Amino acid sequence: MSTTGIIVEGLVKRYGGKTAINGVSLRVEPGEIYALLGPNGAGKTTTLKTIVGLLRPDSGYVLIDGVNVHADRARALRNIGYVPENPVGFDYLRVREFFEFVASLRGIPRDVLSERTEKYLQLFQLEKFEDSFMGELSKGNLQKVLVVSALLHEPKVLVLDEPMSGMDPESQIAFKEVLREHAVKGGTVLISSHMLDTVERFATRVGIIADGKIIAEGTLEELKRKVEARGDITLEQ
Ligand code: ATP
Repeated sequence: MSTTGIIVEGLVKRYGGKTAINGVSLRVEPGEIYALLGPNGAGKTTTLKTIVGLLRPDSGYVLIDGVNVHADRARALRNIGYVPENPVGFDYLRVREFFEFVASLRGIPRDVLSERTEKYLQLFQLEKFEDSFMGELSKGNLQKVLVVSALLHEPKVLVLDEPMSGMDPESQIAFKEVLREHAVKGGTVLISSHMLDTVERFATRVGIIADGKIIAEGTLEELKRKVEARGDITLEQ
């Protein structure tokens, strides 16, 4: 069986006595946009942080393009672009400096960096914010800058925690287009959201998470049928 894309098997994560996720398994193949959908506190952020190696699971494992994230995080990270839900600590950097910082971590040469930042800043209409401090950006613009920073090293796998919150509608369209293009080229996308309408007509597959477990999975059409049949879950968050 192919090990490309994202493979998550039996993840359990506890914070002290609190079990935040309890046996999460999912697979996202190259070419797919998988939306992890669930209400606040369901376990989306914990799942995504564990997938990118920020948290160590109590059990279970994660493979990114065949690399076990918790065994060799440095190698796995080369293939991952991650946007956290609540970024902190970059307020004092200008947007341009933030990209330079990311480029230095990722080993992106200067000419490649300027070519890519130009392309993405234009796409997200961020050109005029290049000299702004990260700390003075609106929530939506900060989200866009973080998405650009996650794309700079052109990773195969994108893991995005509620990336569209606070983003203006026009940027959401550009953003979805960027992700679609990424998937069409064989990239893998995992995106979390607590609102169905942000991922409708865009995600190729959806997983519903509740109380730390994936309770249903499939295309939106399949899910709607399952929800109707069960009667005890809802797609409205
Ligand atoms: P949100 O959309 O509100 O971020 P979520 O679906 O991402 O919600 P998580 O943040 O993963 O959910 O939280 C899952 C559960 O774990 C919740 O009950 C939450 O209160 C708990 N939790 C999360 N982080 C911690 C922590 N650092 N310490 C203790 N409990 C935590």
